[in-house]
Amino acid sequence: MAARPLAIVSAMHEELHALLPLLHEPAVTTIANRRFHSGRLHGQAVVLVLSGIGKVAAASTAALLIHEFDASAIVLTGVAGGLGADVRVGDIVVASQTLQHDMDASPIFPRYEVPLTGRSRFDADAALADVLAASADDCMRDAEAAIGRSHLQDFGIDSPRVHRGLIVSGDRFVSTAAESRALVQALPDALAVEMEGAAVAQVCADFGRPFALMRTISDRADDDAHADFSRFIAEVASVYTRAVVLDALERIAATR
Ligand code: SAH
Repeated sequence: MAARPLAIVSAMHEELHALLPLLHEPAVTTIANRRFHSGRLHGQAVVLVLSGIGKVAAASTAALLIHEFDASAIVLTGVAGGLGADVRVGDIVVASQTLQHDMDASPIFPRYEVPLTGRSRFDADAALADVLAASADDCMRDAEAAIGRSHLQDFGIDSPRVHRGLIVSGDRFVSTAAESRALVQALPDALAVEMEGAAVAQVCADFGRPFALMRTISDRADDDAHADFSRFIAEVASVYTRAVVLDALERIAATR
């Protein structure tokens, strides 16, 4: 029987396109306007797809990956706004937990709790998160070589770091200092904010499939929207993601 594929989900088009040329024996299946790319990466069965932007798009994609492709686990990559005081542009955050910061069915359910689940926080799979963090650490060490010092300086990146902790998600691009301050005040341990992670985590929890999430910090979720968001994604985040995903696949294969 064919091995169940590991799903690698990109939030950004540029990240998917950094991986696609490396896919062996590619086959495309289109469902619900999503293009699922099945094949092998580093000898490992994978399915690559864009999450779409926002919680609904990402949740539907995750459900299809598990139901239609029997994905063994989902790894989601993308960019995010930094919230933690020392989480800077060019750093990587690997989630240990996720939460929907815009979920609020109070007073019927506690603020942030996903109704009828009894939970506000959904854990990432610890073993997969360990692998991603180890790969991200290696990638950071080589960032200068992979991306080039002058490029990193262009984006104001100096000694990038890997963090682990809470990533929060909501259907809002957080782009004012007032909003990010409010998030930090309400959720002091949140390291980064994005728009998909917690949705995928909830779907994975429903299906009992492991979930992991890594984000490259593209902005500080404040009034200085990143000078050039798409250039950052193409020239920094996609390079990180490709390096981390390939290294993580090697580590996973080595444990088999
Ligand atoms: N202008 C972009 C739109 C990206 S939407 C484009 O051209 O495609 C933002 C994406 O980046 C989402 O996938 C979200 O998960 C992530 N993201 C990065 N910074 C964010 C922030 N400050 N707030 C919310 N999401 C953020």
